Amino acid sequence: MNAFVFPFSEEKAVSKELAGGKGANLAEMTRIGLPVPPGFTISTEACLAFHENNHALPEAIEQQMKQALQDLEETTGKGLGDPEKPLFVSVRSGAVVSMPGMMDTVLNLGMNDDTAEAFAEQTGSARFAYDCYRRFVQMFADVVLGVEMFYFERELEKYREKYGFTADPELQADDWKHLIRVYKEIVEEHHGQPFPQDPAEQLRLAVEAVFQSWYNDRAVFYRRVHHIDHSLGTAVNVQSMVFGNMGDTSGTGVAFTRNPSTGENSLYGEYLVNAQGEDVVAGIRTPNPIQELEQAMPEVFHQFRELSVRLEQHYRDMQDIEFTVEEGTLYLLQTRNGKRTSQAGMKIAVDMVEEKILTKEEALLRIDADQMHQLLHAGIAEEVDQPLLTKGLPASPGAAAGTIVFTADEAAEASQRGESVILVRSETTPDDIHGIIAAEAVLTSRGGMTSHAAVVARGMGKACVCGCSDLHINLEEETLRAGAHTLKKGDMITLDGAGGRVFIGEAERTEPGMSDELQQILTWADERRRLKVRTNADQPVDAAKAVEFGAEGIGLCRTEHMFMEMDRMPIVRNMILADTEAERSEALRQLEPLQRQDFEGLFQEMQGRPVTIRLLDPPLHEFLPDKEALLLSIAEKKWNNYAGGDLAEEEKLLEQLRHLEEENPMLGHRGCRLGMTNPEIYAMQARAVFQAAALSSAEPEIMIPLVGHKEELRRMRKLVEAEAAAVEQAQGVKLVYKIGTMIEVPRAALTADAIAEEADFFSFGTNDLTQTTFGFSRDDAEGKFLSQYVEEEVLPRNPFMQIDEEGVGRLVEEGVRLGRKTKPDLKTGICGEHGGDPASIDFCERAGLDYVSCSPYRVPAARVAAAQAAVRARLREEKATVLR
Ligand code: PEP
Ligand code: MG
Repeated sequence: MNAFVFPFSEEKAVSKELAGGKGANLAEMTRIGLPVPPGFTISTEACLAFHENNHALPEAIEQQMKQALQDLEETTGKGLGDPEKPLFVSVRSGAVVSMPGMMDTVLNLGMNDDTAEAFAEQTGSARFAYDCYRRFVQMFADVVLGVEMFYFERELEKYREKYGFTADPELQADDWKHLIRVYKEIVEEHHGQPFPQDPAEQLRLAVEAVFQSWYNDRAVFYRRVHHIDHSLGTAVNVQSMVFGNMGDTSGTGVAFTRNPSTGENSLYGEYLVNAQGEDVVAGIRTPNPIQELEQAMPEVFHQFRELSVRLEQHYRDMQDIEFTVEEGTLYLLQTRNGKRTSQAGMKIAVDMVEEKILTKEEALLRIDADQMHQLLHAGIAEEVDQPLLTKGLPASPGAAAGTIVFTADEAAEASQRGESVILVRSETTPDDIHGIIAAEAVLTSRGGMTSHAAVVARGMGKACVCGCSDLHINLEEETLRAGAHTLKKGDMITLDGAGGRVFIGEAERTEPGMSDELQQILTWADERRRLKVRTNADQPVDAAKAVEFGAEGIGLCRTEHMFMEMDRMPIVRNMILADTEAERSEALRQLEPLQRQDFEGLFQEMQGRPVTIRLLDPPLHEFLPDKEALLLSIAEKKWNNYAGGDLAEEEKLLEQLRHLEEENPMLGHRGCRLGMTNPEIYAMQARAVFQAAALSSAEPEIMIPLVGHKEELRRMRKLVEAEAAAVEQAQGVKLVYKIGTMIEVPRAALTADAIAEEADFFSFGTNDLTQTTFGFSRDDAEGKFLSQYVEEEVLPRNPFMQIDEEGVGRLVEEGVRLGRKTKPDLKTGICGEHGGDPASIDFCERAGLDYVSCSPYRVPAARVAAAQAAVRARLREEKATVLR
């Protein structure tokens, strides 16, 4: 028979897939001799069996649980429900992948009228024992029986008011006993059955509730957002309770072995004296910094510090540890690899190489390239003009400005409308996830660095300021007050996540810098990557920024972007709308020197690095006046019987617009199709490129867009070559240049062998290739149906962000294969948005491309992702060699 239940003390390691992350961890911690309260894990397979068995525990699993419980009772010398020496346990979920806050926990299980009394006697504190009991009733009713917490809180509130209590510790045993009676009535009323007094039944119900919660809305939503497989199931951990709320020599806390914001190598965390774990995480009481534990409980602190070093050595990573002190004895309840900011991740990885915990390659693989944009995030200067609203904990770096909203739903709605908002809450819960995702940043009045808001925002790389204790939120009036300031919903504020400051209005943000650690990681990355990293840039300033970030060339200069400046727009319009050859020539004549200057600027900035210039690829409608506005203006003039000359001009313009109008501009007269019908435009651009190149000895790469047929490229190539020859002759120089094409439509990929005959290089334009492969309009799909597709998992991801390997990727592979069949040394790259996406970069490595090209700010992450891809490729190769 399958084993479904495993004690933590089991000699042989049980896989994480079976025991879940937490269970495997508790067992491992037990094995290496750490002070872990004993317990057992019910496996993820049991969860699957439970769901298959119509949401009931199969008999075999119940039997194994019974046996494990008996063993636990033996180990602890206590009994579940024993009226003399009662055992209490916690019941927690633990999925394979950590899902913070997503699943529900039950503490103090085993409490009933008898064991509470026994516990009171044993601890000598009836007040304490009955407080534990009422907490258990409340938690169990909420999590397991589905009775809303609100009913209990309301009763407690009423009771406090009636007797003038201001804080819970003022309530005595008899108060709690009274409330427990009321609580039981609430349970009976709303659950329809009495509160279960039998601890064995409590345990069975709690385990079932955890399994059931695998499919609750929050968990399903979290898995969707994080792409976690629903079929993994969760394990349940049953662990004997230790109590952090047994007085002033007890306490509980959460600590990171290094600072999760900066990476600094010193303990970082918080604890509360005389409290249970939930009190720290829920952020209801504001905890003390862990360093203060050194004074409060010196021995415990030193033991904790030693253990944290041991844990880091063992797990070879920064740890996030939950601990409890019960009457001076330290217990570790959990440890896991700690979530960290990108900045901290970088520093920790570099430090761990120096400390000889990691190799350079391991350190590189530890970097979350997806999160690296955080490092290049904005900050706020020390001094700003805007008044300070409040200060709190610097929970997650970054700077963001937005208008105030007070609920997650409002945040989601506002972001749908394209507004930037800051979500302001007293504290957040997993129910607020959609609001946190939608908001630019999160601000809370309560809770510490390990509160829900802090952990989640950090994970998402959003700015967050927590625990602003002087911030008072009035939800009814939709206002917040801090000191002398009162703001209302919709008012603008700016958050400085790294400094924990909140300003009224929009404060200026500062450019971030490249830390020494980032430079170090990038050096290691550059030593290992095969893929070159270029940038997509059209302006010298962007090119300069990209070079600063390590770009090795320009992979895509979109020349139409050079025409969008206000002073050029009228000339470009004249060029497009020209009635006669002469008119068009005049517009081109005006544009040519401007283009030449543009290219000179780029060549100068790139100092001999390769520069790929794409000839004009305009969706024409982007350059033309708005037709609806024009129609309105004409109608108004006619209505007023106006007959001035500009009416006739407007009518002519309207006629021209109608003539140029396309049903599908994205699939219309774009790319090389424009060069085919209006060769004079491409000729002018090619001339400008070559003249600029002649001046600066650059070796340009001219790229023809949207080619679908070899013949298009052959003709455009001839045209460009003719311009090169003319410049060579006129200036008496020898130009070195390449002519290549973008592969952006499936036909180009499928006939790449033919196209390669005319191309010196290929650059995969995966934006258009995705559009044309799926038949999804780039302009409309994401706003119309694609988000639903991703949400409902029709597609695993947005294919405009991460390359669709199965379809679009296959065309890329085929394009490379066929292209190299014709020209074995054909240079290939990618310049769609995917060129900056780490997962897509991994694909580019596997597809054997030569380079990726991305926007300037993504260059550092692309360098790291390219190195990770190369290391992974080598590891795969080594593994394959061993297997051979
Ligand atoms: C592409 O299509 O991938 C591309 C880079 O070109 P653009 O986005 O300018 O169409
Ligand atoms: Mg394109």
